[in-house]
Amino acid sequence: MNIFGITPSALSEYFISKGENPAKAALVFDAIYRKKATSFYDIGFSERVTEMLQKDFDFSLPQIIEKLDSNDTAKLLLRLTDGEYVETVLMRQKFGNCICVSTQVGCAMGCRFCQSGRLKKRRNLFTHEIVGQLMAIQKEFDVKVTGVSVMGIGEPFDNFDNVKRFCEILTAPKGLEIGEKHITVSTCGLVDGIRRYAELPHPCNLAISLHAPDDELRSELMPINKKYPLSELISAAEYFSLTANRRVTLEYIMLSGINDLPGHAQQLADLIGKRNFYVNIIPYNPTDADCFQKSSRERIMAFYDILKKNGIGVTMRREFGSELKAACGQLSAEQTK
Ligand code: SAH
Repeated sequence: MNIFGITPSALSEYFISKGENPAKAALVFDAIYRKKATSFYDIGFSERVTEMLQKDFDFSLPQIIEKLDSNDTAKLLLRLTDGEYVETVLMRQKFGNCICVSTQVGCAMGCRFCQSGRLKKRRNLFTHEIVGQLMAIQKEFDVKVTGVSVMGIGEPFDNFDNVKRFCEILTAPKGLEIGEKHITVSTCGLVDGIRRYAELPHPCNLAISLHAPDDELRSELMPINKKYPLSELISAAEYFSLTANRRVTLEYIMLSGINDLPGHAQQLADLIGKRNFYVNIIPYNPTDADCFQKSSRERIMAFYDILKKNGIGVTMRREFGSELKAACGQLSAEQTK
């Protein structure tokens, strides 16, 4: 088994099943995530326990095939043991090092503006392959990751259990100890997944890729909307915000002439109403298939102003990594084409 796929509770159970004190799990977390151990030899366990761990777990990380680094953004192309590829991105920001991790090889959601969807889903990533992206970044760039967006390739709630374990490992005390509020899981709108996520004891943040304020347009842009229309999506998002007592981010890519008109902004404000949501306006990153165009600055500002006037919280995402093809929606593991 790969050690990077083991949650604290699973590791405690492992020790119990071996007749050992489950408190050893915290020592292992401390060693691998804080002291950067790459074997069990220096933890100070008895020879018998050390050998048992050495036999049962390995420390392998995805192999780095390509590394791109420019200013504040870096990207790794990683090869998994079965020869599949994924990408992961590091954004060096003033307030910390944030990464954007992938959760699947390809994606089944088929959003029309997204590069990842063009690859079709090949498989889910295992927990250790998602944690492995973070470990590979920390090791390769000698940084401590302080924030995580689950916004790379794939739909996280189409791989729920592995994403849940990933969050448990990241937030574990004595381990990486990244706070729940510094981890954001972004979904295209799998309503069942949102509700399940809301009911976790300690969910991380939630972002929803909304991109349209009405069903007709949203179904055109994002096929998932035919299965889970806006009314269901909004009520699931509200359920999360009330259950977890957290503000939900609605991501909104600005596509010129498609969803960026003043009427759309007003519709969006009406849709949100008084709910505990805010809108993150994202500039569109043209991808190879290019059937959309970026909105002008004026359009974006007008859209922003209408939301503000309606009392809606709004932020604008800085564009990271477009020169590395590492911007939102551009991750694609080009090797697999
Ligand atoms: N499947 C998840 C997470 C991956 S996509 C989701 O849909 O949320 C991460 C974010 O990038 C989503 O908001 C997605 O809609 C957005 N995105 C996809 N293609 C993009 C593009 N070309 N330009 C800007 N953002 C894009």
